Amino acid sequence: DVADVSGVPPWFAAHLREEGIESLYPPQADAVEAGVAEGNSLVASVPTASGKTLIAQLGMLSAVERGGTALYIVPLRALASEKREEFEAFEPYGVSIGVATGNYEDTGEWLTGKDVIVATSEKVDSLVRNGAPWVDDLDCVVSDEVHLVDDPNRGPTLEVTLAKLRRINPNLQVVALSATVGNAGEMAEWLDAELVDSAWRPIELKTGVQYGQALHFGDGSQRELRVGSNEKPTEAIVRDTLAEDGSTLVFVNSRRNAEGAAKRLANTSCDGLDEDERRQLTDLAEEIRGVSDTETSEDLAACVEKGAAFHHAGCSSEHRSIVEDAFRDRLIKVVSATPTLAAGVNTPSRRVVVRDWRRYSGEAGGMKPLSVLEVHQMMGRAGRPGRDPYGEALLLAKSHDELDELLDRYVWADPEPVESKLAREPSMRTHLLATVASGFADSRAALLNFLDRTLYATQYRRGAGSDDETDTDGRRDPRDGAARDNLERIVDSTLEYLDANDFIDRDGTIGATNLGHTVSRLYLDPMSAAEVLDGLEGASTPTAMGLYHLVSRTPDMYELYLRSGDREEYTMVAYERESEFLGAIPSEFEEERFEDWLSALKTARMLEDWASELDEDEIAERYGVGPGDIRGKVDTAEWLLGAAESLAGELGLECVPTIREARQRVKHGVGEELIDLAGVRGVGRKRARRLYDAGIETRADLREADKAVVLGALRGRTKTAENVLEAAGHPDSGMDGVSPDATAIPGDG
Ligand code: ADP
Repeated sequence: DVADVSGVPPWFAAHLREEGIESLYPPQADAVEAGVAEGNSLVASVPTASGKTLIAQLGMLSAVERGGTALYIVPLRALASEKREEFEAFEPYGVSIGVATGNYEDTGEWLTGKDVIVATSEKVDSLVRNGAPWVDDLDCVVSDEVHLVDDPNRGPTLEVTLAKLRRINPNLQVVALSATVGNAGEMAEWLDAELVDSAWRPIELKTGVQYGQALHFGDGSQRELRVGSNEKPTEAIVRDTLAEDGSTLVFVNSRRNAEGAAKRLANTSCDGLDEDERRQLTDLAEEIRGVSDTETSEDLAACVEKGAAFHHAGCSSEHRSIVEDAFRDRLIKVVSATPTLAAGVNTPSRRVVVRDWRRYSGEAGGMKPLSVLEVHQMMGRAGRPGRDPYGEALLLAKSHDELDELLDRYVWADPEPVESKLAREPSMRTHLLATVASGFADSRAALLNFLDRTLYATQYRRGAGSDDETDTDGRRDPRDGAARDNLERIVDSTLEYLDANDFIDRDGTIGATNLGHTVSRLYLDPMSAAEVLDGLEGASTPTAMGLYHLVSRTPDMYELYLRSGDREEYTMVAYERESEFLGAIPSEFEEERFEDWLSALKTARMLEDWASELDEDEIAERYGVGPGDIRGKVDTAEWLLGAAESLAGELGLECVPTIREARQRVKHGVGEELIDLAGVRGVGRKRARRLYDAGIETRADLREADKAVVLGALRGRTKTAENVLEAAGHPDSGMDGVSPDATAIPGDG
């Protein structure tokens, strides 16, 4: 019973009962047994939807009950707000919650004194680098989806961050929540933690493969599925699920496919709607259109009217949460999603279809199979406890051979072991500099010693003892004795690189230079910093395009791919605007470098279009991206230009104001003359242009503006006009009795 757990606050059991939780699930009981409520570290490797969050809460709340502070590390920003909402339920009992988001340079001082803090691993890493004071006082740290240490891009940050936090407080309680993985024991060894390794699920999950007119389950059973002659398998499954009044979640491998599938499946889902649902869905579609006025918004609304939706990282967060809520409420019958939805968002469904089990790998257009772990996580979303008798998750086969392959590869297979990616160069560059800069190590030996607290070290230590670990699938195995040598070699070459670029100083002890400190605090990959510094050298008045291109070619900017025809187009642009680029253009004969340089040019031109007030829809169309992608690129560019500004300032370069202007233009998406106006709260790029065209050119103009003109420029929207005038500091923003000045009303287009 939940009331029998000692160590947690007395109100917690009653609170859980209110939420419908009377007794602990078996893995939760095991966690209590292992001492999660008494400060013990724990790795909980249990399937999706088996109540990991509660295990984390037991750890966090018992730490708070003892007067301590807890940190919850989420893998994605989108999950931070979900967790915040979840934990805010504790506020009435006096537990304070803070979410660390926003700027990398922010030290989050206001979080001091909060009982529970939620942040992404990148944010925690940066707070450590910036010396956030509360980091020293943590008692309990939860690491959600800790199996992501396996991710080549983001895993090393999590790994190093946990190592630093444990170094700061050697008695830190670490509660690591993991999907079922092949080597949970090794993770527990790494974190000196107890282990709960369980396959228990609150609801039975049947997994299998659809082939022809049958569903073949892993337990050997089969079931008939009528697939109509003109029907695709996914449509047949959705129709079949609807007949049982259930919903379906379809995982696909790209945004485009998610949208395409939703449009098609909407024709199936709309058949099963009753009058009341149709009305509610019409309202929901209106709400979606109200969020933004873009093509994606319209497409989504059109699907939602028919009971279907798509969900991917290119959608705005408002759209995503509308879809998640309506799917949970069973109003939306089918959602097609990219795997982001599988990562954590709580959206159970009667059936899950993993339609695409391969994804584009980016390497020469090749396709790569998903890992067993990823597929199992998607499948784990099937089945709503208390609602469905069981969940069903299906892969789709087009041939008998494929049926056999899928059963082997995913249905009967165990998930892979998690493997540290720390020894890769980009992560080493970043993390060694940060480790030195934050004072965790001041010599080569101390660095190697620090790295001993990582999963990488645990894995090579293990391998060094036994020679019989064979590498069955040809991957490079870090678990051999050579791994330590390998680590030393990478550490040496990385130190060499950091020294050569003046980020560290190696006379006697190792320390960060001023420049190195700045780079670490700015959260830049040192290679990005080197690229920027190199480009800015000797550029007294660079153009905005030159700066956009410079930041776009750093490893911190995720590039746009070149599509067919792009190579020719951007090669032309490169020659037309040759004088603007900072640094030398690689020769066309250096194929790969030139290609990269051109993709950066594509990104740069997208930023330029944005800063020239081109419509978002047009940009999306022109570059083949979604509005979420534009936002992502714009945010990254703003951050990198800010970093470039700091670096230039650090070196006393004269181009600082030019960089600032380019940054502000990207930030607001406006031409130079609108920067001032667009900075007024509630104005934004479109309204700034309308006000400007009506003769109101600056914030000061706005403060003294004729209200009728403002109202006209803002298309007669009274409330907007009042807010904008108030934000600008107009002495009297009231619009009672004011009618729009007809000459200021903008025409269409
Ligand atoms: P995970 O993080 O493992 O994917 P969650 O923690 O989100 O899973 O839990 C899934 C669902 O199960 C949640 O809706 C939660 O409220 C519910 N749940 C958790 N523990 C219990 C329990 N002991 N009894 C009943 N429901 C529970």
